[in-house]
Amino acid sequence: MADREFDVVVVGAGPAGLTASCRAAECGRQVAVLDDNPLPGGQIWRGASKEAAAWMRRAERLGVEWMTGARVFDSPEPQKLAVETFEGDWRIAYRSLILATGARERFLPFPGWTLPNVMGAGGLQALAKCALPVAGKRVVIAGSGPLLLAVARYMKTHGADVRLIAEQASQAAVMRFALSCPPGKLMQAISLRAGLFGIAYRTGCWPVSAQGKHRLESVTLRTADGRTWTEACDYLACGFGLVPNLELAALLGCRISRSGVDVDEFQETSAAGVFAAGEATGIGGLELSLVEGEIAGYAAGGNAERAKALFSARASHRRFAKALEKAFALRAELRDLPRPDTFLCRCEDVTFERVGACSNWREAKLHTRCGMGPCQGRICGGAAEFLLGWSAESVRPPVLPARVGSMSR
Ligand SMILES: Cc1cc2nc3c(=O)[nH]c(=O)nc-3n(C[C@H](O)[C@H](O)[C@H](O)COP(=O)(O)OP(=O)(O)OC[C@H]3O[C@@H](n4cnc5c(N)ncnc54)[C@H](O)[C@@H]3O)c2cc1C
Repeated sequence: MADREFDVVVVGAGPAGLTASCRAAECGRQVAVLDDNPLPGGQIWRGASKEAAAWMRRAERLGVEWMTGARVFDSPEPQKLAVETFEGDWRIAYRSLILATGARERFLPFPGWTLPNVMGAGGLQALAKCALPVAGKRVVIAGSGPLLLAVARYMKTHGADVRLIAEQASQAAVMRFALSCPPGKLMQAISLRAGLFGIAYRTGCWPVSAQGKHRLESVTLRTADGRTWTEACDYLACGFGLVPNLELAALLGCRISRSGVDVDEFQETSAAGVFAAGEATGIGGLELSLVEGEIAGYAAGGNAERAKALFSARASHRRFAKALEKAFALRAELRDLPRPDTFLCRCEDVTFERVGACSNWREAKLHTRCGMGPCQGRICGGAAEFLLGWSAESVRPPVLPARVGSMSR
């Protein structure tokens, strides 16, 4: 693709990006979708699902242009994005932009968390979807939120020996949440849990350390009533909730709040002509991402009436998201997991002891290189936010790794 211009450019081909692109194209706009993954579908669908395929077919019929394996790494001038693929780099101009950049997992450091085979819950699922053999492997899944159940179900279906699901939230919080769910969601949860028959789901339980000589051999867990024990396992899949991907929005000057990119009722950010949808605006699950994408697509396409017709559906999904956030809030005890010699930044081998003398993220970066490695703080940033109350103060391009040649154009 040469340098191009579109009415609407969508960054992210997950559920929010797919619905946004279709709705904007239905309004007669010329639309392009850019995503750094090789296949569209985002984190949940990863190309291999009927839902993603249906939205893709609809988008293709509407003439939406796709650019996958395409990292948006900068916005070198107003209304223009810098994009890189294996083949080259381009500048893509837009009249309206929809950010549907999704979220990533939050990791919390504990002794042994950097051992091989300790990984993200969604990360292990993604690897298994890309042919990592899990059949017969002993898996412990730990952290917080419904994603743990989805991953356990996937692992069980693919023959893994799921030893335990350790949910840090209390039983009371999980029960209150279940009872507050709309009937459809409750049925979904019941059927998910039924599919996990025989697998222990312990609430008020979290990992305190992982052990192994060259790779993971066991994990030590603790319960809120003080019981501690060790489980032998081949994989420890950990996910302490999700963190929105905000780097591009921050670079474009969009206002960001505690939960994600700030948007108005039409999903427009504080930067005129820039919309945001899905988990980038706050963690809320699949249905909220889909409907926010639709609203952003209609609004960017100029059909406010169609967008307004979806406000009440969005309100109900937002209530569910609030209940989810409350129920699976991380407990204070998790702040005591790291020891002085535990790594906070695994890219640059920076321990808690070393960042102890720093009072904010910027100071830690300057003095210890914390957050300056290949992941650019995507892993340690979420942990530092929860453990130390630090947040990134500024974002600089490239927001994703890019070749020097692409940046110097
Ligand atoms: C690892 C992981 C696994 C998950 N698994 C499940 C599951 O099994 N079941 C479930 O119900 N929910 C799952 N979720 C939650 C689910 O992703 C959300 O509920 C929802 O579907 C998010 O949709 P979205 O469109 O907002 O974002 P996403 O689906 O995350 O899509 C965002 C897309 O934008 C791309 N992107 C971001 N920045 C850039 C950039 N600068 N340049 C180019 N592309 C970019 C990302 O690579 C991604 O493909 C998972 C989440 C994560 C993080």
